Amino acid sequence: MTDVSAEFDRQRLQMVADQIAEPLDSRPPVRDKRVLQAMRIVPRHRFVDEQTADLAYIDRPLPIGHGQTISQPYIVAFMTELLETAPEHDVLEVGTGCGYQAAVLAELVRHVYTIEIVQPLAQESKSTLEKLEYENISVRAGDGYLGWPDAAPFDRIILTAAPDHIPQPLVDQLKPGGRMVLPVGEIWSTQQLTLVTKDEAGNVNQQAVMAVGFVPLTRR
Ligand code: SAH
Repeated sequence: MTDVSAEFDRQRLQMVADQIAEPLDSRPPVRDKRVLQAMRIVPRHRFVDEQTADLAYIDRPLPIGHGQTISQPYIVAFMTELLETAPEHDVLEVGTGCGYQAAVLAELVRHVYTIEIVQPLAQESKSTLEKLEYENISVRAGDGYLGWPDAAPFDRIILTAAPDHIPQPLVDQLKPGGRMVLPVGEIWSTQQLTLVTKDEAGNVNQQAVMAVGFVPLTRR
């Protein structure tokens, strides 16, 4: 048998070079070295089903079942860079999906808490992350709009599904000095990737960063 994993490794390095570090189009390059290294390490092909694995390193979102998608690699890297993570951070992710974004974050921070509303996706991602031996990720099934009060507060929060407003429970669960990155917008219209910051005094600011298209945040 030929070594398919070596071929996937080659494709992944190429993905980081051509799509993320130096995109061939007008997208702003992602320059954070830690983020680029995490993107080189995490085996994206292991997070999708076998039929889709050959497409894992192309410049596209991919289906992950249950009507959901994994963002294109560039967007994952861009949002992760915007989050400005550090090794001592505890991070909350809303929208686990297949667990890929959680794995990228787990390469960069102390612990990732991730919530998924679709129960089977929560289970599948948990088993994928266990197979890949990630020990600093906790997965829970539930409504991420409400955050994860038992583990709060968080240094960083990221949403990979779009609410139509910034969820107040998540703002409340952000530490002073914290950053939250999320798409915000009405269903079926353009969303704005938004950066929310909370300063040391607790003042909250928000800033639109770029137009994006995510699946909507759903509620139970
Ligand atoms: N970060 C994911 C991308 C998943 S797509 C990955 O790397 O694969 C967004 C996910 O958000 C979907 O799986 C969807 O089911 C989930 N979702 C939508 N509303 C949610 C909510 N209220 N709480 C938690 N997850 C939610």
